[in-house]
Amino acid sequence: MVQAKSGAKDRDSQAAVPSQDSLCPHVKFWGVRGSIPTPGPTTVKYGGNTSCVEVRADGEIIILDGGTGLRALGRHLVTEFNGKPLNLTLLLTHTHWDHIQGLPFFMPLYEPKNRLRILGYEGARHGLQSVLSSQMETPFFPIGFRQVPANVEIQELLDLTFDVGRVHVKACLANHPGVCVGYRLFTSGGSIAFFPDNEPHYGHSHAPPVFGAGETTMVELARNEDQKIMEFVRGCEVLIMDAQYEKEEYNSHRGWGHACLDDVVAFALEAEVEQLVLFHHDPEHDDARIAQMVTHARKLVAAKSSSLRVDAASEGAVISLNSRASQSR
Ligand SMILES: [Zn+2]
Ligand SMILES: [Zn+2]
Repeated sequence: MVQAKSGAKDRDSQAAVPSQDSLCPHVKFWGVRGSIPTPGPTTVKYGGNTSCVEVRADGEIIILDGGTGLRALGRHLVTEFNGKPLNLTLLLTHTHWDHIQGLPFFMPLYEPKNRLRILGYEGARHGLQSVLSSQMETPFFPIGFRQVPANVEIQELLDLTFDVGRVHVKACLANHPGVCVGYRLFTSGGSIAFFPDNEPHYGHSHAPPVFGAGETTMVELARNEDQKIMEFVRGCEVLIMDAQYEKEEYNSHRGWGHACLDDVVAFALEAEVEQLVLFHHDPEHDDARIAQMVTHARKLVAAKSSSLRVDAASEGAVISLNSRASQSR
């Protein structure tokens, strides 16, 4: 059954928390594509499912976004826990289709002893519960969201900081159409920042937008917004970030809410993060093209003599945070 909550509530201590304390905090990618799934032989290496990342840390299973990658994660969890109750938290960055479409196909929803807490911000006009329910209404799906047997709690967040068990979480508004946030999770092994959809207001690698006389304040406003996100992610161990377009492509996609690779690399260098993971791959980019983008990004990093590690997110890849110290909040 689905419940909407307006405020933070302690978790039911009776619910069985999967035992993950024996494992070091880690991140696993289940969906890395932007906009629409792209199955097929040319996307096998990086994967064709949309946004879904699993973080296991400090006894929690935290899922970042519920794109189509959520389906495979659900199947995996059911097999792994083999009948034990699941206690899961799903953090939504926003409710565009590529970030919620896996939810109706998430197998743990169909087992009454499982518990799923969904946290996110309201979005434009409609409440989070209404938006999530609408994709399961009769014309679109045979089972309504209210009919799923699992204990589902939808919590519309009011604050930009909260805790999921022992994992402290902060949120920050992204530059993307509608309401969209990025998250930073502070785990015992280091922090992970997740900005799957974001377009820097002010590209580092491009000529600045042309403003008319008296519009310098807009330029400053845009720079300030970028700076806020930079301070938000500064020094994190893993930054998973929208890098959808190559520089040439970006020129015809300005204002679409997605980033240019060169800008994201410059951003990550300036923010002094340890590892940048390119995310939200363009549906038109095949494996070869994404590999080229990684090579290009690494050249940009080498030109700055930086130790920043750059990879492209790929389905099934795991990043372990075992060797890192606990981060300050
Ligand atoms: Zn997206
Ligand atoms: Zn989006």
